[in-house]
Amino acid sequence: MAPLDKALDYSVPETLVDCVQVGSRVKVPLGRRQVVGYVIDCFDGSPDKLKPVLELLDDAPLFDDLTGRFYQRAAAYYTYPLGEAFRTALPAGLSGRSAPPPILTDKVYRVTDPTPALRGERQKEIYSYIKAAGESPLSDLKAVFDSPYQVLQRLVELGVLAVTEIERLRDPFEREPVQVVTPLALNAAQQQALDELEASLTAGTFSTLLLHGVTGSGKTEVYLRSVDCCLKQGRQALLMVPEIALTPQLVGRFRSWFVNHQVRLAVLHSGLSDGERYDAWRSIARGEIDVVIGARSAVFAPLGRLGLIIVDEEHDGSYKQSEGFRYNARDLAQLKGQMSDATVLLGSATPALTSYSRARLGQMSYLELPERIAARPLPAVTLVDLKQSETDSLLSEPLSTAVHEALDAKEQVLLLLNRRGYSPFLLCHDCGATCRCPNCEITLTFSMAQRSLRCHYCDYRLSPPETCEKCNGSRMMPEGAGTERLEEELTQTFPEARIARMDRDTTSRKGAHARLLDRMTVREIDILVGTQMIAKGHDFANVTLVGVLNADGPLNLPDFRSAERVFALLSQMAGRAGRGELPGRVMIQTFDPDNATLQYVSHHDYQAFAEEELSQREALGYPPFGHLVNLVLAGNDPELTQTGAEKLTQELVRRSQGVELLGPAPCLLSRLRGKSRYQILLKAPQRPMLRHLLDILPLVRKGLPAGVSMTVDVDPVDMF
Ligand code: ADP
Ligand code: ZN
Repeated sequence: MAPLDKALDYSVPETLVDCVQVGSRVKVPLGRRQVVGYVIDCFDGSPDKLKPVLELLDDAPLFDDLTGRFYQRAAAYYTYPLGEAFRTALPAGLSGRSAPPPILTDKVYRVTDPTPALRGERQKEIYSYIKAAGESPLSDLKAVFDSPYQVLQRLVELGVLAVTEIERLRDPFEREPVQVVTPLALNAAQQQALDELEASLTAGTFSTLLLHGVTGSGKTEVYLRSVDCCLKQGRQALLMVPEIALTPQLVGRFRSWFVNHQVRLAVLHSGLSDGERYDAWRSIARGEIDVVIGARSAVFAPLGRLGLIIVDEEHDGSYKQSEGFRYNARDLAQLKGQMSDATVLLGSATPALTSYSRARLGQMSYLELPERIAARPLPAVTLVDLKQSETDSLLSEPLSTAVHEALDAKEQVLLLLNRRGYSPFLLCHDCGATCRCPNCEITLTFSMAQRSLRCHYCDYRLSPPETCEKCNGSRMMPEGAGTERLEEELTQTFPEARIARMDRDTTSRKGAHARLLDRMTVREIDILVGTQMIAKGHDFANVTLVGVLNADGPLNLPDFRSAERVFALLSQMAGRAGRGELPGRVMIQTFDPDNATLQYVSHHDYQAFAEEELSQREALGYPPFGHLVNLVLAGNDPELTQTGAEKLTQELVRRSQGVELLGPAPCLLSRLRGKSRYQILLKAPQRPMLRHLLDILPLVRKGLPAGVSMTVDVDPVDMF
């Protein structure tokens, strides 16, 4: 598909009229090329002036009519080229640039002669097995008999068995065990939430509900029961989780429950092979699937009878795609829900302020699980003032003592340091210079294990210089700390403890992450150190201490959402402590213990935090009280990019009609991957005002200098 903004019309030749339909993938002529396209509408009309469709590429459509219209509206909302939006939505490998993954098949045997004269024990055994089963796929027979293929072929030749080919779907979970799941008796709050959900599902009209349940309040059980209700009505459910690879436990629990209930389940996420994804997709498109679990891209699954969409941890930033088609799956879930007359359930312990404020305004229902299961207390949170700390080590005295106590009691500890690597940078102790990335101008992160300096954005690498480039001094030393350094220090302080580290560096291999979590569960790890990965939804009963090494860094990022992010991260992190029988405690190290956000975290007071933060947002017109679009201009030539950005701003100002324009200003990452970057932020109290400017963007884009590109980010989340 070409990056066009509009759909094109083609005629359908006589031979294909019966099979081409909405959702079909076809080969069509475009100029002098042949390209892959998707049929999004069919109508009768004169075919004279149109070029014909050349070829139909799949045996069945890849999406239904409603899903196709959903893609179109999503593309329009985010001002993204229609063809590219379809390409993002559909599974990889179907764009025509490469061959789609092969369809696997299986042979199925069935008895045709009820009373054959058979010779030999093996013939008899295999024959009776198939007769008893009714029919048997070769894959089954292979599991039961030792190399049965020749005997089977002989039986077919003899006319005793018939064989047919069927499609065999790849199953990414083939080898994973399923646990037996016993239903839990819901507590009163869970039951009340479920009642409201069931009422909405029964009504069968679009509505959105926010399930605000503190960490450990049993949201999962409510999700599963509501899916049950949805399936009973003959409709399909979609369950979205932030990052599937980071939450194998949760997915395992969901999967066991569904397999126990004989629900036909498909899983969609980026960790699948192209073949697995293609198979899952096609069975969904054929309507053979009841429930889809997936990460953000699953919002595009071709579910034609959708009754329920659940967005777990709806506040999570990973629902927003940060490049290309910059959609937010949580927001698109509501569009899809609206188009499907479905119930949309947003769940979180720390709802996004935009969601919370909509609930407060009555635009969605608000369901609350205010307590942990079995009235377990939320952990006690202490703010440790680093100004008072006299030690040079990364752990203050109180945190160090607490770790000792937990280890003595054979309990487990989680330590969060939201920065990987050994140390953030190498600093020259003679002249104060640091090593920076030549492409991105951010400091290079130092890794002791790999003895290298590395850029987190573009992966530029450098071996650490012996001497300072600027002053030639020989005292280039690691400054500040990352997880790698923390792990090293802990090994020295707690030599008897079993310590492990979880961050992007230690989990880059497939399965590494799940193994670490398994070792935590079976208590082979006493202290787990990690970046925010360790805050994600894990349920370890024996963790009684959570430590946060440095709360100040993230609080001071220049972004109006930094307080909201810190509140969510620290509350989620705190939520990992004391989930079992044993009570938990949390220690947060900071130089600013009076900080309002940290105070709210320490009192588990989401409401008060939200009220204060929302009133500030209102004063400044930030979301949810205003709407934003971020335009980023990037180019190799710094001056050309800057003048391009200035010109564009002037163009827009002339037609702004109540939209506020901020900038152009250099992006926080003013150089990235070798390009200069400028941003222009559009801000408006009402969305339609922005729409007007968005509609003219294709036009003004044409006026940009050659070599300067523009990306449009509607409802931006990160503005770096
Ligand atoms: P959340 O997602 O809200 O953090 P979970 O759904 O993980 O919480 O539930 C926390 C723990 O409580 C889980 O171990 C779960 O099995 C258990 N649980 C949930 N509901 C009940 C219930 N009604 N009775 C007993 N245990 C429950
Ligand atoms: Zn770089």
